[in-house]
Amino acid sequence: MYVKECPECKGKSYSSSKKNWICPYCGEDLNDVEAKQPEN
Ligand SMILES: [Zn+2]
Repeated sequence: MYVKECPECKGKSYSSSKKNWICPYCGEDLNDVEAKQPEN
């Protein structure tokens, strides 16, 4: 599981894959944003 924070709307989104990651809140392309692994 990975988490990314959108640079546009600051919303956090979670995914099991880093492929084709689009912000679910504003539609921003997050492929260039660093993916982090959330705690627990
Ligand atoms: Zn966003």
